[in-house]
Order: sequence, then C-alpha cells, then structure tokens
Amino acid sequence: MKRIIIIGGGPAGLMAATQLLKSDCEILLLDQKASVGRKFLVAGDGGFNLTHSETPSEFRDKYDSEWIKKAIRQFSNKDWIKFLKQIGIETKVGSSGKIFPADEIKPIQVLNAWKEFLAPKVQFMLNTRFVNFDENQVEVDISTSLNTPGKTEKLDFDYLVLALGGKSWSVTGSDGAWFPILAQKGIALNEFLPSNSGLVLYENWLGDLEGKILKNIQTSCGNQSCTGDLTITQYGVEGKPAYAINGALRKMEKPVFKVDFKPQMTSDKVFEILKKAKNPSQGLKELKLGEVAIFWIKTFVSKERFLNPKELTKAIKEFPIGIKGFRPIDEVISTAGGVADSEISEFGELNQFPNVFVAGEMIDWDAPTGGYLIQGSVSSGYVAGKAISRAFDSAQSPE
Ligand SMILES: Cc1cc2nc3c(=O)[nH]c(=O)nc-3n(C[C@H](O)[C@H](O)[C@H](O)COP(=O)(O)OP(=O)(O)OC[C@H]3O[C@@H](n4cnc5c(N)ncnc54)[C@H](O)[C@@H]3O)c2cc1C
Repeated sequence: MKRIIIIGGGPAGLMAATQLLKSDCEILLLDQKASVGRKFLVAGDGGFNLTHSETPSEFRDKYDSEWIKKAIRQFSNKDWIKFLKQIGIETKVGSSGKIFPADEIKPIQVLNAWKEFLAPKVQFMLNTRFVNFDENQVEVDISTSLNTPGKTEKLDFDYLVLALGGKSWSVTGSDGAWFPILAQKGIALNEFLPSNSGLVLYENWLGDLEGKILKNIQTSCGNQSCTGDLTITQYGVEGKPAYAINGALRKMEKPVFKVDFKPQMTSDKVFEILKKAKNPSQGLKELKLGEVAIFWIKTFVSKERFLNPKELTKAIKEFPIGIKGFRPIDEVISTAGGVADSEISEFGELNQFPNVFVAGEMIDWDAPTGGYLIQGSVSSGYVAGKAISRAFDSAQSPE
C-alpha cells in the first residue's frame, strides 16, 4: 500500500491529511511536539478567527502572493466553514465579519473534532522531528519518544507533505529549523521576516502612555491601511491597525506610517471645527481626540503648525510616526518568508522533488491576522492533499 507522510500537525498538515481520507493509502502524520495543533490553540487564546466572511475578491486581496490566492480559489472561506460544519463545528460571523466558532465552542473542541475525524485512517507519530529527506525517504529524530539521544530513523514514502509552519512562537513547535535543511538542497527560500508584529516606537513617543488606547483611528502606509484601535505598550503599539501595515513598513528603508486620528470626519469638517474653536487646544477637545493623540500632537507638532488650523488639520488627518522596528520574530503572530513560490507547482509540489509537497505558513506568503492566516494554511494544505489524492485516482482508474 502507498504511504503518505505528512510532517507538521498544524492546520495545513491536518487539511492535507483530510483530503486523503478516501484514498487507498497509509497516512502517517508526524509532529515534533507531544500533541498536534499547538499554534492553532494559541491562536484560539485571543479571538479565534478561523476565517473571514468577505466576498471572494475582497478576501483574496488581503494576500500578497498570487500563489496563495490561487489556492484560496480552490478552497475558499466557504469551503472551510462547510468542512468545519461537517466535523460538527458550527461557526458564527462576528460584527467585523470575522468567522469564529459558535458560542461556547472552545478551540480545543475544534481541534479534537478534527483529530477524531482523521483518527480512523491517520496514524499520528508524535515527538518525531523531521531532520532530512530525499526523493523517497524522510529521516526523523525519534530520540524524544524513545529517550535515546540522537536516535534517527528513515521512513519510506510515496508522497511527502511538509507543513512545518513559520518561525514564530517556537514553543508551539514552529521553530523554522527546517529552513537550513531545505536551503542545503538548493531550494530557494526567502528570509523569515516578522509579520503581524507590534511596532516598536522611539522612547520619546511613549511617555506615561502604556496601556492607553487610541480608539477608532486609521493607520496607513503605502497601499495598506486599517481602521481600529491601537494599544500603547511599554515599547510601542499593538493592534490590528499596526499589524495590517507590516508588509508596507518592511519595504521602507526608514519606515514611517501615518495615523488619521479622526477617520470618521473629513478634513474639511476637522478644519471647520478647529477654525471656529477659541484656541487649538479647545479645538482638539471639541474633536474629542484621546489622551494619546493630544500628547503626540502637542509633543511633536511645531508651535507654528499647531497655531495654524490648516496645518493642524493635516497633523490630525495624516500624523507621521517613524518606527524603530518590529518585535522579535519569536513573539510575532506570523512570519513572512519561507519557500519561494518559484520553487513549487500550483499545488505546492517542489520542482526539484516531485512527490514532495510543502504547505502552510512555511511557503512565502503573507496576510493580516483575522482569519486569513489559518485560511491560507488550510487552503494550501487542501491543494497539496487534493493533488496527491488525484494522482492516486488517476493511477487506479481503468484504462
Ligand atoms: C498568538 C497567535 C495568534 C494567532 N491568531 C490567529 C487567528 O486568530 N487567526 C488566524 O488566521 N491565524 C492566527 N494565527 C496564525 C496561525 O495560527 C498560523 O498561521 C497557522 O497555525 C499556520 O499553520 P501551519 O499549519 O502552516 O503551521 P503551524 O500551525 O505552525 O504548524 C506547524 C507544525 O509543524 C511542526 N513542526 C515544525 N517543525 C518540525 C520538525 N522539524 N519536525 C516535526 N514537526 C515539526 C510543529 O510542531 C507544528 O505542529 C495566530 C498565531 C499566533 C502565534
């Protein structure tokens, strides 16, 4: 019987396995941790955004790579929701259009339902670390499970799916240690970069503001923008409007973004209020700007501009903030970088290693948090699993 080895029990690996359940094959799912889906559960600790309810084209626009957009065409947000329903997980749409598990369903229940769905056919081999591979064998380190340091084993495969994740939150098993293994084989990889990261600001921006929230503002940088709340931390800012502009900031030599403190109001309206006010400080009060916005404007806008309603309007609508950098890669929600899409087919099959597929965050694509990362991971797992199951079907169909 043909053997398929899937390494990595995150959403990408689990979805690849799911697509093979009906094929006549043996499926081994390996992971270096003692349980699968650890990052999936970490994602569940905050808001567990499984995907988003946007229309297909709005949805795909959130991704930076044509490769992943193509995968999402084949397995969309609707397909993912339908699958979750099939395993008994109802979902609900949040006020911002994000999709969550329905009330009371905990992340571990989602993971367990999925594992149970796979259990009759998939053999889980845990505490098993991928260390190398060639055209038909994968080498794994089994010293943790056997308690014998350095013990490795070679397993034969007919098809191999690597779904090893990115490089953040290494405690979950996604440690990026696969990078040099693939690089040594001449597979083109792009450097890991922090994504969906908080932004580190220069100290003079922080004052006593830690814990304060900039509510309903809009950030923008290049062609990326996002409305929401930014929280001031000890080192800078966190929140969706910070994460959503990471990609554009990463491209700049001296990264600067702009904040619109009043996105609900036109510049003309802001100007009118400032013009009518007794003085600029009164104008800021009438505009109901929060403490952080007022502190930044008073600290960083020159007196001359502050006294000029036109210039002050510009400062309120397009306030520039230079950043010192991103958070350390291990702390961020996701990583960009990984296997270059020039190295793979539309199904994730490596050009240099036919029958070896890659899936999930280990491929170089990027998207904002809010359901797009899990969706990209399951869609890429789907295309890999489906391509293998199709290969089986065509091999078995009568002439
Ligand atoms: C704090 C946080 C919150 C998040 N919130 C959300 C959210 O709300 N919505 C959203 O869409 N996304 C969210 N994400 C991102 C999302 O969880 C990931 O993008 C997704 O899990 C990636 O799936 P994957 O299958 O590609 O890899 P992973 O889930 O990272 O799984 C990779 C697996 O491979 C295993 N592995 C790695 N190397 C080896 C090796 N050498 N040998 C054997 N096994 C190995 C790991 O142990 C791991 O189990 C969040 C992430 C974090 C950290």
